[in-house]
Amino acid sequence: MQEVTVGLGEDYADIRDSVRRICADFPNEYWRDIDKREAYPTEFVQAMTDSGFLAALIPEEYGGAGLPIRAAGVILQECHANGCYAAAAHAQMYTMGTLLRHGSPEQKAKYLPKIASGELRLQAFGVTEPTTGTDTTKLKTRAVRDGDHYVVNGQKVWTSRAEHSDLMLLLVRTTPVEEVQKKTDGLSVLLVDMQQAKGNGLEIRKLDAMINHNTTELFFDDLRVPVENLIGPEGKGFRCILDGMNAERILVSHESIGDADWFIRTASQYATERVVFDRPIGQNQGIQFPIARAYAEMQAADMMVRKAAALFEAGEPCGEDANIAKLLASEAAWNAAEACMQTHGGFGYAREYDVERRWREARVQRIAPISTNLVLAYRGQHVLGMPRSY
Ligand SMILES: Cc1cc2nc3c(=O)[nH]c(=O)nc-3n(C[C@H](O)[C@H](O)[C@H](O)COP(=O)(O)OP(=O)(O)OC[C@H]3O[C@@H](n4cnc5c(N)ncnc54)[C@H](O)[C@@H]3O)c2cc1C
Repeated sequence: MQEVTVGLGEDYADIRDSVRRICADFPNEYWRDIDKREAYPTEFVQAMTDSGFLAALIPEEYGGAGLPIRAAGVILQECHANGCYAAAAHAQMYTMGTLLRHGSPEQKAKYLPKIASGELRLQAFGVTEPTTGTDTTKLKTRAVRDGDHYVVNGQKVWTSRAEHSDLMLLLVRTTPVEEVQKKTDGLSVLLVDMQQAKGNGLEIRKLDAMINHNTTELFFDDLRVPVENLIGPEGKGFRCILDGMNAERILVSHESIGDADWFIRTASQYATERVVFDRPIGQNQGIQFPIARAYAEMQAADMMVRKAAALFEAGEPCGEDANIAKLLASEAAWNAAEACMQTHGGFGYAREYDVERRWREARVQRIAPISTNLVLAYRGQHVLGMPRSY
């Protein structure tokens, strides 16, 4: 039997207070305007950087706060619960994990302190490709060794924040899949200096998308990356990025809990104030019960998120729990979003109520960073032992 401690209620009260104070400076009007202009929330990201929150998971020896993953999750959750969109910057918190766990001492000393201070933004993570999608080991972007450089050719899609990042972690194939015994071998992680790369073998095109996630397509045409920027052993990159995925799932689950919280409070308030047929609409159980059910689902998902975080922190295996947390939290957020939208009737479509924007944003967690089906496939095939679909 494993024993881990799971706190209940409002843990990390000081952190929550500070995040709420920051969020108060970025009201709904700010996010509405950013969304309309499809701009990057530079001021919000700067405030989060200056507060040190984005360096929560970087060890103190490299200038970070060295906090547990639960504390980092609470930071993201509070942002979302208070109307902000931390997804614009959340990768700065965890993408460095690959560098931290697999980088050489020289790489860590060179980059981590600057990532912690915000001098360097590491917010881009290039994995997904247009023709291979979730089938990551089939990715086609190739890096071929040429002296003390890798020469990279290929294409990525949905690479978020590439235009606002100084560095990018890039997953490439260094040995063709036909030449490796295991298809997960032969992939490698490169740290790309975006300022050097842009216009010198890297072209970035903005992707016109449903939400303002600053996401892009990347085209590599003989991009030269120094061999010293290889993170971890050549050919073992898949393992290096997998290590970071549990952390990512636990952290984005916190954002979903924050989203659910926002939708439920917003819906409850509107249902209490809006009067139709001479009574508040919340008096009708058709309006009240979906909100109450969403609250129960949020509470259940929250317990699972706390459990996954506690296991992660204790260094225990947590792949299954991180996946379940991600599944339940993303669905709790979506059901709360739907309840909130329905509660608002036609006004749910009016931009000034912010429900439609946040509804669009909450939906993405069911697809990225991993889609619901793939989470279920993991459970069905790896946990329950049913036949594999891939
Ligand atoms: C806003 C946004 C931001 C993103 N940011 C990034 C980023 O920064 N970096 C990055 O690398 N990627 C990013 N992504 C990509 C994201 O991780 C992928 O979209 C996601 O993993 C799904 O891959 P896909 O779109 O290629 O879907 P596909 O792989 O084409 O799958 C399509 C559908 O089929 C289902 N499916 C496929 N195979 C199976 C199976 N065996 N069993 C059951 N169902 C299956 C999937 O679950 C999915 O629902 C982002 C995506 C979005 C929308």
